[in-house]
Amino acid sequence: MSLPQKDVYLVIGGSGFLGRHIVDKLLARGDVVSIFDIVQRYHDVPFYSGDISEESQVAQAMQKSGATCIIHTASPPHGIDDPALYWKVNVDGTQAVINAAVANGLRKLVFTSSAGVVFNGEDLVNIDERLPPPEKSMDAYNESKAKGEELVLAANGKGGLLTVALRPSGIFGPGDRQVMHGLSQVFERNQTNFQIGDNNNLFDWTYVTNVAHAHLLAADKLVPPKQLSEQETSNIVNYYLPT
Ligand code: NAD
Repeated sequence: MSLPQKDVYLVIGGSGFLGRHIVDKLLARGDVVSIFDIVQRYHDVPFYSGDISEESQVAQAMQKSGATCIIHTASPPHGIDDPALYWKVNVDGTQAVINAAVANGLRKLVFTSSAGVVFNGEDLVNIDERLPPPEKSMDAYNESKAKGEELVLAANGKGGLLTVALRPSGIFGPGDRQVMHGLSQVFERNQTNFQIGDNNNLFDWTYVTNVAHAHLLAADKLVPPKQLSEQETSNIVNYYLPT
């Protein structure tokens, strides 16, 4: 039996906080990986400079890197007052990534969405991925992330491309440029007496290396569904039938 071909990775947004941790994890397990980003911060892996909203730039990086699996983590940061930029990058840019991946016969696309896509301002307790985004998103960032996610999931199977989207909650850890910076500014402004709600609010946080690990697991598990034999199908049906 021949072993499945090893994937070659292109991490879009690989100069960023999460993207870099994904690159580190791929390198640590001996995988071949390149980065596509608008800025270059590292020089240890092949780097392709470009903007995901330019399909030809993405396509060129896919061809040159020989990628079979895209991990797409690029996005403008949350909290910018520029809805058009969010739409351009997270919706049009994600569509360009999908188009280029299908046109170039790539096997896999892992998309970093956000837990914020299902937030509606109410408490969300014990929810899972079946919860759809609310009619009205909380802001332009979350609206664009929800739309990007929808495009990625709808592309599953197109030209043999397999897709998956992950929805991390708040991410913290080494290399973060947003969360700790914001918190330290609040502290420096002496705003430590401010309290939102009754001090029992909860928010989910995940350590960045765990989020990176989840992306590798998602990529590894993106395999075409197995064709079941008649016997296997009947075993499954019998398992679920009431005894
Ligand atoms: P980051 O800003 O550190 O990294 C994003 C990277 O994308 C940057 O290197 C940036 O240069 C690149 N980029 C932006 N626009 C681009 C474009 N048009 N073309 C190519 N590259 C572009 O952000 P992060 O915190 O690492 O977030 C990574 C992903 O995780 C994002 O998709 C974000 O929506 C998602 N996310 C982040 C958090 C969090 O708490 N940080 C939580 C949930 C989801």
